[in-house]
Amino acid sequence: MRVLTGERMMKVRVDREQCTGMAYCIGVAPDVFKLDEEGKAVVLDASAVDDETLLEAAKSCPLDAIVLEDDEGNQVYP
Ligand code: SF4
Repeated sequence: MRVLTGERMMKVRVDREQCTGMAYCIGVAPDVFKLDEEGKAVVLDASAVDDETLLEAAKSCPLDAIVLEDDEGNQVYP
């Protein structure tokens, strides 16, 4: 995995097939994620936090439902 810096370079999306709405991600980054009307996480504003926090949020998801990609579209996590 690439070394992360404080800069923003990652894109984030939620795999809705995987997400069961456990909301750990929201606990880590409440400005980035929220639960929608189906009880699944959606991305509000990925620019609200730095990449390290995005990675922390992605790692907090026990289902690996948060997918991070670099600016060239390569999957960084999981
Ligand atoms: S993305 Fe993961 S941590 Fe966030 S609500 Fe969905 S299952 Fe829970």
